[in-house]
Amino acid sequence: MSKCGVRAKVFGLFSQALSAWAVALVALVAGGLLTAALAIAAQTFYKQQLRQRFELLANERYSRIAERFDDQEQRLDGLRRFFSYSSEITPREFDGYVKPLLHRTQAYSWAPRVEVGQRESFERQASAWLGQPYHIRDQDAQGVLQPAAARERFYPVLYTQAATLQGQPYGLDLLGQPLREATLARASAPGSMAVSAPLDMINVEPVYARGLLMVAPVFAERGPDNAPSGYVMALLSMRQLIAEGLPPPADDNLVVRILDTSGSNGQEALYDSQNPVAQIPMASNHLLHLADHHYQLSIRPSQAFLQANRSSAVHTVALLGGLLSVLLSALLYSLFSQRQRALRLVEQRTAQLRISEQSLRGTHNQLRSVLDAATQVAIIATSLKGVVGTFNAGAERMLGYSAGEAVGQLNLADLVEAEELGQRAHALTVRYGREIAGGQAMFAETVQEAGAEPGEWTLVRKDGSHLLANMLVTAVLDEQGLWVGYLAICIDVTERRRVHEALAARDRLLEKLSAEVPGGIYQYRLDADGHSCFPYASQGLYDIYEVDLQLLGEDATVVFERIHPDDLERVRRSVRYSAEHLSPWREEYRVVLPRAGLRWVRGEATPEIGDNGCTLWHGYLTDVSDTKRVEEELRALSITDVLTGIHNRRYFQERLKSELERAQREGLELAVIMLDIDHFKRINDEYGHAVGDHVLRSLCQHIGQRLRRSDVFCRLGGEEFMVLCPGSDAEQARWLALELWQGVRSLAIEGVGRVTASFGVAGWRSGEGADALLLRADAGVYAAKQAGRDRVEVVLL
Ligand code: GH3
Ligand code: MG
Ligand code: MG
Repeated sequence: MSKCGVRAKVFGLFSQALSAWAVALVALVAGGLLTAALAIAAQTFYKQQLRQRFELLANERYSRIAERFDDQEQRLDGLRRFFSYSSEITPREFDGYVKPLLHRTQAYSWAPRVEVGQRESFERQASAWLGQPYHIRDQDAQGVLQPAAARERFYPVLYTQAATLQGQPYGLDLLGQPLREATLARASAPGSMAVSAPLDMINVEPVYARGLLMVAPVFAERGPDNAPSGYVMALLSMRQLIAEGLPPPADDNLVVRILDTSGSNGQEALYDSQNPVAQIPMASNHLLHLADHHYQLSIRPSQAFLQANRSSAVHTVALLGGLLSVLLSALLYSLFSQRQRALRLVEQRTAQLRISEQSLRGTHNQLRSVLDAATQVAIIATSLKGVVGTFNAGAERMLGYSAGEAVGQLNLADLVEAEELGQRAHALTVRYGREIAGGQAMFAETVQEAGAEPGEWTLVRKDGSHLLANMLVTAVLDEQGLWVGYLAICIDVTERRRVHEALAARDRLLEKLSAEVPGGIYQYRLDADGHSCFPYASQGLYDIYEVDLQLLGEDATVVFERIHPDDLERVRRSVRYSAEHLSPWREEYRVVLPRAGLRWVRGEATPEIGDNGCTLWHGYLTDVSDTKRVEEELRALSITDVLTGIHNRRYFQERLKSELERAQREGLELAVIMLDIDHFKRINDEYGHAVGDHVLRSLCQHIGQRLRRSDVFCRLGGEEFMVLCPGSDAEQARWLALELWQGVRSLAIEGVGRVTASFGVAGWRSGEGADALLLRADAGVYAAKQAGRDRVEVVLL
């Protein structure tokens, strides 16, 4: 969606594709720039504030200094007026007036005018006033006061009051020094005032020694040349005047310098606070007035000022701004990466959902198709209350309602036969011990036992007709595993039931028929792996084998255990042959049964190819013991001579044939002995036929006793007999014949006496036929008869 539409914007500003790193970088750069701008503004503001503060301080300092200068002027002017309006002032009055004025002033003095003629009287008077010797003096080059040289006029210091002066320079003539004299000269007009050039004060502490002398003339009386009557003076120390009452230079915010620009020596620094100057371009210059002088006041900020006004705002702004920028960029990075991750996740999920939706739609369609394709199955989904929600094509076909008629209109219970529903509800009520309404009967097992077996229900079609259906009702669960309805799947079993019943009838018929059939009928299966069983065996098979029929259904081994050991291999072979050639199996064999003992069984079955390479036989087994016995009896009769009980001619011929074959096959010897009773006719004639029969029986019994088991003794007919000697050659047979001959002729038969017989012996030669052999034996008998009877003759040729 976002690919073909307008690209999504984050915060309405940035493209979503923009990487979080880029946004974070932009934020960082913007933050940095903003921080720099703020820092510059803060710096500018700081400088402005610094300037304002400095100017305020400088103005205040200037005002204070100017005020002090004015104060000095006014005080000196006051002293002048004190002298101007007093005729005579005593030292005490002077001291009394001046002492309170000694504030930031080194000293105040009074120097009256003394004309040269008045010098001595003045000195005397002054000595009296001062109470000490007083002379008008000058200061020499070494600074020592000497009596002043004579000159026209003097202005000697008469009174002086100092704050810290160590010795008063009484008598010092102001005119005796050029500097002081020049100053006095500038203050010669009434009301004027003059200040000296900087000078070193006498008797003043060295630190305060550099100072100014401010003088004011006093015109109390007119002197010659309009010279003032005296001068009042103030001795000012610049340091005291400016620095006193201010912070020490080290702590002072200002660097103060006062320059005397009017001095004859050029500019001279009258005062220099000498504390270190701050390296910032700020200065405040003022002009100061003191008496007739101008001084330049230069004020600059000190390092202490800079120290005191140091602002951390810029650093703070830079630090905070930088920090905020980093934080903001980190936040934006985090937000962007999170949002991008979230958007990617949303896209992924949306894609997954779309796939799921498509898959779900496909599944739904498949399900719908399956539901509709299942035309033989009615699939009905209901709500928890049983109201039909889904009614597939199979349901429409089975029940005759259209989906529109059923969905939301019918209850599942409406589709079930009412009476049957009632009966089931009653049965369930009894089973679960609580009342179950008719409508809930079909859900009860699902609810109670969390799953139900399919049950048969009689459903009612729209037209009122009934059908038998196999219905399975299961619970429909939502994704949380909660029950939201039921799903009923019905299969019309009317036809199945009919088929089932028909099959059951067929089974019963089969049972009855098989019960009537002698023996049992069965289906026998031989698997490719050799395993065999009887998938079907009628009851008769039990009597045949005396085995559990249930067992036979799984394994036929037990049957083979019942077969007589002599017949077992033959039976197995015939079964294999039948399987290999798919030829009918037919066999008679003996079984040895626990109860019935030895029995004869006859079986017949037809093979066919079954599933998975097995062979299936369908056939019957029957007990033929009785038949077999009759057969054996008949057989015995057919090969037995009735009169003598020995084998008859038929048996002899059969046996001769088989023995000849065996001898030929195995290369064995074979011989025959033929005997004919001599003159038997006479016995019959003499003693009667019955005695003749008795003679025959007695001779047979006697000869039979003397024969070996392998010898076969037969009556060929009348009074002719034959002994078949398998394994004997002619010589051995001759010896046997001689033995028999002896036995016959030595036997005394009751009522008859002795009887003799003539013996013919013939040994079988390889390749010789039965007739040729018998002919030779007969020739032997004939030869014996011819030779006088009662003897044995061997015929070699
Ligand atoms: P020989 O063999 O010594 O030459 O004289 P023979 O008298 O034995 O000769 P022949 O073979 O002619 O006679 C056999 C007689 O045996 C004839 C018949 O009456 C008699 N005979 C045949 N079968 C039976 C029989 O089953 N019972 C009795 N009692 N006599 C029989
Ligand atoms: Mg005879
Ligand atoms: Mg005869």
